Amino acid sequence: MYTMGIDIGSASSKAVILKDGKEIVSTAVAQIGTGSTGPSKVMAEVLEKANLTEKDIEKTVTTGYGRFSIDMADKQFSEISCHAKGIHFLIPTAKTIIDIGGQDAKAIKLDKTGRVKQFFMNDKCAAGTGRFLDVMSRILQVDLDEMGDYDSMADEPSVVSSTCTVFAESEVISQLSRGLKKQNIIAGVHNSTAAKACSLAYRAGVEDDVVMCGGVAQNSGVVRAISMELGTNVIVAPNPQTTGALGAAIYAYEATLAEEAI
Ligand code: ADP
Repeated sequence: MYTMGIDIGSASSKAVILKDGKEIVSTAVAQIGTGSTGPSKVMAEVLEKANLTEKDIEKTVTTGYGRFSIDMADKQFSEISCHAKGIHFLIPTAKTIIDIGGQDAKAIKLDKTGRVKQFFMNDKCAAGTGRFLDVMSRILQVDLDEMGDYDSMADEPSVVSSTCTVFAESEVISQLSRGLKKQNIIAGVHNSTAAKACSLAYRAGVEDDVVMCGGVAQNSGVVRAISMELGTNVIVAPNPQTTGALGAAIYAYEATLAEEAI
């Protein structure tokens, strides 16, 4: 039996097809989110990669900011529930999840069975989210996927103290004009992002294993900064951008089993 999960975020669309609730058959990511062609693109891609058609999919669950925008979905679940489900499936020892996406950051606390005990979310401000890093990568003229390499070369991270993205942008421009090394400014940007995410994690309560997911988990500089701030090793989930879609596919499987049992 095949089920599909689709996570429609603000920055990207993700899809996962699962076989019998346990085997990931295919995944797809499009770097465009809700209100765009992203959702239909990832759906077509994930089906093609699995060599399946829509008719082969027993049930589809959507999640993410744009989860109500797809008519063919059977059910919708929150991102909190779906990330928790997906991470517990991949890393059953996970107790604390830090998810940083395009326009929000979340800390989720799990019990040992993978149930959500507590969560905190920042979706009111760009600071500490992917959006903040997108702005910084543009003004620093460093691609997002190179930010981690620059971070690893830093010898004296700068301090980016503004809590507002607009003021932080001016701060970084000023540091650039004073001739500070890019790698040190980038490490400062990552430390500032980490401080925001960790303040959510502290409120939720930090307990090992700490697992990071969301698009920003692909930035090794942010992972480094969060590990340092928390004083513990942060595990990056495999294919971290797709853990919400994976959780949605698992929910689709569980919903099908529950219906069959009636
Ligand atoms: P959402 O679910 O809210 O749409 P994602 O979880 O897809 O967001 O995260 C999007 C963010 O991930 C982007 O804003 C960007 O900062 C970051 N990101 C995406 N791709 C990469 C990459 N290759 N390397 C580093 N960061 C990335």
